Amino acid sequence: MQRDLSKFTHGTYDVLIVGGGINGAAIAHMAALNGLKVALLEKGDFASGTSSKSTKLIHGGLRYLETFDFDLVRESLRERAFLLRDAPHLVKPLSFIVPVYRGDRKPLWMMRLGVWLYDRLAGKYTIGLPAGQAGKHRFIPRDELIGLMPGLKEEGLLGGVSYYDAQMDDARLVLENVLSAQVHGAHAANYVEVRSFLKKDGQAAGVLAFDTVSGREFEIFARKVVCAVGPWTNVLMREEEGNVPPLVRTTKGIHVVYPGKISDHALLIPTSKDKRVFFIIPWMGNSLIGTTDTDYTADPDAVAADQEDIDYLFRELNRVFPEGTFRKEQIIAVFAGLRPLVHREGEPAKISRNHVIKEAYSGIIYVMGGKYTTYRKIAEDCLRVILPSRKPVDTRAGFPVFGSGEITESAQEVAKENGVNTGVVRYLMDLYGTRYKDVLRLTQNNPALKEPLCACSPAIKAQVVYAIETEMAVKDEDIIKRRLSLVYRPCRSGQCVQEIRQRIG
Ligand SMILES: Cc1cc2nc3c(=O)[nH]c(=O)nc-3n(C[C@H](O)[C@H](O)[C@H](O)COP(=O)(O)OP(=O)(O)OC[C@H]3O[C@@H](n4cnc5c(N)ncnc54)[C@H](O)[C@@H]3O)c2cc1C
Repeated sequence: MQRDLSKFTHGTYDVLIVGGGINGAAIAHMAALNGLKVALLEKGDFASGTSSKSTKLIHGGLRYLETFDFDLVRESLRERAFLLRDAPHLVKPLSFIVPVYRGDRKPLWMMRLGVWLYDRLAGKYTIGLPAGQAGKHRFIPRDELIGLMPGLKEEGLLGGVSYYDAQMDDARLVLENVLSAQVHGAHAANYVEVRSFLKKDGQAAGVLAFDTVSGREFEIFARKVVCAVGPWTNVLMREEEGNVPPLVRTTKGIHVVYPGKISDHALLIPTSKDKRVFFIIPWMGNSLIGTTDTDYTADPDAVAADQEDIDYLFRELNRVFPEGTFRKEQIIAVFAGLRPLVHREGEPAKISRNHVIKEAYSGIIYVMGGKYTTYRKIAEDCLRVILPSRKPVDTRAGFPVFGSGEITESAQEVAKENGVNTGVVRYLMDLYGTRYKDVLRLTQNNPALKEPLCACSPAIKAQVVYAIETEMAVKDEDIIKRRLSLVYRPCRSGQCVQEIRQRIG
């Protein structure tokens, strides 16, 4: 995928999508799959907004049972099954444990009922595990739970429940949707900002775009314009319609990455005060801990975690782990994102995660709300608005991303053939799916690319070349944060960053 802006100025697109987060990427993918001439523009890097700052779960959301959002949970559980099928290298089943203490807001019987109902709502879309059996909920007696989650506070612990959901690599799932869109003929570019809309007879007819790399401004024409800009929706809508009421309500969520993993299971912990839950999830050998949910009204570009957010997470951690188990000075990384919720009053945690697609008088289509998990459904609903008189291709039967498909080769054989270590091949297969071959192909003429990038991860040098040549990485942070996720691994030497800077330079 090459960043070639010259092609955007030839002719008129059927649809131009603003915003390269998961929703924009999936809409572009689906529109191109339906034979439309598609353009996708992202002002930063693909997935640089909320879509790389999520909890990285493909889930129904056990928590939404409390707000009786059964339709949303059912829909998400169905989408979870589709994603496990359509992006098997990026979306993997994960077991969750919920410990219950004496005096908890939700007693043990309620948690048992909750996970039972959760699996019932999944119906035939219950998670399938590699061993062939379905991932079902169960009660966990106290002693077994202590064994499964070493270090957990034992005082007042009554037992717990476990259930299954799925975990994903959010930034790469966006990227693979962009790459798939491109395979179906879409034109996509990162670092191109939409500054305003072009109009003809009062109707949107394209955009005025600004290439933030060259500083050049240019016009792009399209019959339909879709704004999938998530937390930036109010900003773009006001550019178009003046000071109208907000369409989205942005709430901030932060995560910290902590060294080491507590267990192979994820932990869901109901919070003490604000009727929320937070997670400790095994993530690349470390633990992803989050999240928060607080209103945020400032510039979406300036969102960041503050001390209060981190203190909140650590306060809640200290409720279920003995004081001192987690220490703030050991944190590897912190990141903050904004939920683009459909605007409603009330406590943030209680606002539905439903999505809404609205066509303005100007013909501009705004995509709001939703969950990462439901991106296929959001794209499908958006396509019905773009093409009201046509039935879109049925993607319930399959909406595969770039690297999906069955890998039939054994990692050991591939390792032997290519002169690399088996662990590296397994890691490449997990990250790129069937496209791991494209990465290894780069090493055929240049064996030096088989060398490790750095001691902090299994990555090899070929991946940096691949990120630049095929995955449109423009800046070093595109590779560090989103193509190779190095930001989640502690690095002592900084060799990986040096190598990436050299190559990208
Ligand atoms: C803390 C947190 C945890 C979450 N965890 C989960 C989870 O585990 N599972 C789940 O299902 N959902 C989760 N969600 C929700 C999910 O992440 C979001 O619903 C989803 O990522 C929103 O995607 P988007 O494409 O709408 O927005 P974004 O990813 O923010 O994409 C919008 C893009 O538009 C671009 N843009 C803005 N203005 C312009 C412009 N003028 N020109 C060009 N481009 C522009 C931005 O740069 C941005 O990349 C979480 C959300 C948060 C905040």
